[in-house]
Amino acid sequence: MGAGLSTLLEGMPGPVWDAWVSFTSTVANGLSRLDVHLAGELPSSVVLKTAGATVALCWSLRYLSNVVDYMSEYGCLQTTLEVLKALPIVSGLVAREKDKLSKKIQDQVVADRYKHSKHPKFAELPERQMARKEVLNAIEDLVAKDETSEDGKSKLSGARYFNSEKHANFQTEVYGKFVGANPIHGDSFPSVVRMDAELVSMTASLVRGSDPSASSVCGSVTSGGSESILCAMKASRDWWRRGRGGGLLRGLLESLPWRKGTHKPEIIIADSAHAAYVKAAHYYGLRMVVVPVDERTGYRLTAAAVRRKITANTAIVVVSAPSYPHGVCDDIEGIGKLAASWGIACHVDACLGGFILPFARDAGFKRPGFTFSMPGLTSMSIDTHKYGLAHKGTSVVLYRSKEIRKHQFTSITDWSGGLYISPTMAGSRSGAVIAAAWASLLSMGREGFVGQARHLLSLSEHLARRIESDCKDLELLGWPDSTVVAWGSTDGKRVDIYKVNDAMTKRGWHLSALQRPPGLHMCLTAAHSRETVDQLVADLMDCCEEVRKGAREGDEEGMAPMYGMAASLPDRNIVGDVLVAFQEASLDC
Ligand SMILES: *Cc1c(COP(=O)(O)O)cnc(C)c1O
Repeated sequence: MGAGLSTLLEGMPGPVWDAWVSFTSTVANGLSRLDVHLAGELPSSVVLKTAGATVALCWSLRYLSNVVDYMSEYGCLQTTLEVLKALPIVSGLVAREKDKLSKKIQDQVVADRYKHSKHPKFAELPERQMARKEVLNAIEDLVAKDETSEDGKSKLSGARYFNSEKHANFQTEVYGKFVGANPIHGDSFPSVVRMDAELVSMTASLVRGSDPSASSVCGSVTSGGSESILCAMKASRDWWRRGRGGGLLRGLLESLPWRKGTHKPEIIIADSAHAAYVKAAHYYGLRMVVVPVDERTGYRLTAAAVRRKITANTAIVVVSAPSYPHGVCDDIEGIGKLAASWGIACHVDACLGGFILPFARDAGFKRPGFTFSMPGLTSMSIDTHKYGLAHKGTSVVLYRSKEIRKHQFTSITDWSGGLYISPTMAGSRSGAVIAAAWASLLSMGREGFVGQARHLLSLSEHLARRIESDCKDLELLGWPDSTVVAWGSTDGKRVDIYKVNDAMTKRGWHLSALQRPPGLHMCLTAAHSRETVDQLVADLMDCCEEVRKGAREGDEEGMAPMYGMAASLPDRNIVGDVLVAFQEASLDC
């Protein structure tokens, strides 16, 4: 080394330089020691061992990243429980208990189904053709067990949305004319293709707004709210991905083994959002970011809460209008603006409120509105088979523009079955349900829907006021914005709300049970009247008293023990196993 250079190096700064020098020399020493160590090895063995070590390293990183993923999705507690349950002794024990439980549930559900049935179980195809009369007789026996009610006297929460047999019969008549029609064969059934488009457009007209750009609002008919939501989540995810850019480099970075999973598109939902979003997250590989709502915000999702959860991976945020559990509207406008500024999709779940809230003003009520004129709202779901008063089997999903909707379609150019395009999840679709929904909207008209909104908004206010004033043991869970009224117990130890529910069930009511916090709700429909609401309040008061006085202690029937168990078990996967056992028992005979 020349003298000039060494004086130059002497002037270099101290500690960092020293550390660097010692680090590089350690690496150099290490490498030369490795060389000495490997001197006797065959080159092929060095290559193979290196390859093996690399694979092992990637594998462990992958495994670790999966554990971290699981932990971030299910929490530390559940992860620990799962590790414990993987131990051989515990896993055997858990499996045995699970089997016992499934068997018990299976026996109970199946026994219930066939109790008092006059005709035999049809588990196999009958050998001979049965006479149609005989089949109809069997049906008479079956429907006798279903809930029926006189007009205006339904004791069901939701479920039955019609108020009159006339409307139902009218739709069945329309239905009957289109039983063979299928819009996928549009050339053979132009009638239903036209009704399909008009059904979307009539529904869109409720929320199109006055903005000139809102004229591009479009959508499609699906089989129900869940399918509308699934379609919107798929389209939104892919629309967001396309718009995000980043291309090849981002793709390469994201495929690194330890980054696997961390780049999943994220969907922000309130814990009061409908279960269909969880389904969508499972189907479409979205990471759920769940924001709890509580009494401090009146059970609403707020823009401030959403803002805290937005990351570079946030693809979609969901607002409900109103939410299924509590019947309140999230901050649609505020969250829409937030979505617009971040370039993410914002879906409005108006499955429940779509045929109510847009008519509120004309009905004389001040309620939250939502149209595509509001910035940031990219899609909506509106159920025709709820307050559109159509037979079950249709809903409408709407988009701000065709640019987003096209990501919902499946087009296949090289299928041996021909050129194929399908708009939704279904292939063949029933033309009959489309025609019936179309006919329902025409027969109602704006006038009919304004009338329905007036009836139901005043009914829900009446129910909310009466619970507040007359039911001392109960408190509202949010003030109803639409047609769902939710309440819990003011003191869960004194009055177990699930026991109240069981007592109400004995009186013929079918209310919906809520959890976190424990509660019940009533979804008011055109099948209810003021008398129904007053009867409901009177029964609630009686049942609260029964429970408060301990008249229902030791009653092991009903759902209360099940909800009690679900609330007290920290292992959510065991609760999930019980649900699976119940589902299996329902599906099998
Ligand atoms: C009913 C409902 C859905 C789902 O609708 P289905 O028709 O049952 O699939 C989604 N969101 C909300 C708020 C609902 O009330």
